[in-house]
Amino acid sequence: MIPPPRPDLRVTPVGAGLAVDDPVTGGRARLGPESAAVWRALLDGHRHPATLIAAVPHLSPATLRDRLCQLDDALLLDGARFAAHRGLFARAEPLPAAADLPLRLDPALRHQCVRCGASCTGVHVGPVPDTTRAAVERLGLWRAVPGAQKPDDAFVRGQSPDGPWAMMRRVGEACFALAQDATCGLHAAEGPAAKPPICRQFPYTFTRGPDAVYVGLQMECARFEATLPAGAERPVERVEAELTALVAEGAEVFDLPDPVPLAAGLWISRAAYLGQAPRWAAALDADAPPDALRALAAEILAAAGDALPPDPWRATAYWPAADAPSPAAARAAFVAALDDLLERLSEAASLGGRALEAEATAAARRALHATADAPPLADPEARRLAQLPWRAAVREHGLIRQRDLAAGFGRLELSIALARGIAADRAPAPVPIRALNDGLRLASRVLRMAPVDALLRQHAFVLRAALLPALEAGPWLGVPA
Ligand code: SF4
Repeated sequence: MIPPPRPDLRVTPVGAGLAVDDPVTGGRARLGPESAAVWRALLDGHRHPATLIAAVPHLSPATLRDRLCQLDDALLLDGARFAAHRGLFARAEPLPAAADLPLRLDPALRHQCVRCGASCTGVHVGPVPDTTRAAVERLGLWRAVPGAQKPDDAFVRGQSPDGPWAMMRRVGEACFALAQDATCGLHAAEGPAAKPPICRQFPYTFTRGPDAVYVGLQMECARFEATLPAGAERPVERVEAELTALVAEGAEVFDLPDPVPLAAGLWISRAAYLGQAPRWAAALDADAPPDALRALAAEILAAAGDALPPDPWRATAYWPAADAPSPAAARAAFVAALDDLLERLSEAASLGGRALEAEATAAARRALHATADAPPLADPEARRLAQLPWRAAVREHGLIRQRDLAAGFGRLELSIALARGIAADRAPAPVPIRALNDGLRLASRVLRMAPVDALLRQHAFVLRAALLPALEAGPWLGVPA
């Protein structure tokens, strides 16, 4: 029997779909018309594949199964999967305030800006706090924006569900506060406190856990070959003190959730996940870190999947023409969709005069089509740089940031593959470290663009598939409920 919808959920009609608020997970799911039709048929008692197929004739059996699995993975059905996970959510522990936690910084991630100005160019900088707006007015920096009549004209404004926001305007492609000598006008005149928080913490990223704030690095610095050696000269305690102050002043901090999502419909407790931290650290020191990390992630996923009780109704035999999905076909569809999107983004950026954005998307598109394997990295420094994204992601538990561990792993692999492809396209073997750095920066920027990010979420199945051979996988994994 197919499990019924959970009776404790709060359900609200929204157009032809439903909004479902979950008091156990704290999540809100939006069900489209297809899922809503399945939901209503289940409530009407059609809980066997044969009767459900008859009750919802406008959906194919394969689609019905997909929608059911999607509902079940979102823990909205009162079945074995919800029963297996319910306790994890009930026992979830709150996190201490970030300002009360010690910082955990891998000394290898120490960074020192060399003021190349590249990070202030080609990106939209914000949100901008009142302190920055006041400094822009005080210093008259707004006059650098062509056509600006008053200080407020230096900011792009908008409205989000969280309230109004403001971003620094760009002049050409650079932040208007960037001076000719590639220094920040705000920083030079009033110190780092005048800058938007995102600039102060760049390229550091923070994740709050139960015992520490873990520090990572965003891969968008243009000069890691210079900024990391410069950072290594700085005493660890001093860097930690600066970062601790940033966190206390409200830097952007991601919360490590409890339980931790591993893949669609699969969680483990935060304590169990953190219990594997020594193994993640050991994998970083292996001869081939990506392979060791992949093996460990796959093992964790498989163990969690094996612990789930079987769900007989999911068997494709009950659903005529419902085939197990082909990762290869899904991958081909994803590559085609990404190629199309990158082409459109590149054209739009060219037409809009955003040369850096056009260059980044075009370079990523060429890398997507590169048929040859990326050439090996002869330079030991370049080899170390190629491992940096893995080190940063493991140290700050960054793989979890991208929806779940499996999707995060696939996304990072994609980012590094694009970076290597971009580097190889720019400089034939041996790939110089600057080309690899450019590749990492451009690939990271492209994957962070809102339309690309949305596409990656839509095709999360492809990102997860590499780690999921032992688990049941379906196209619904890429379409969150
Ligand atoms: S505010 Fe300063 S640090 Fe931030 S992007 Fe603009 S020039 Fe760069």
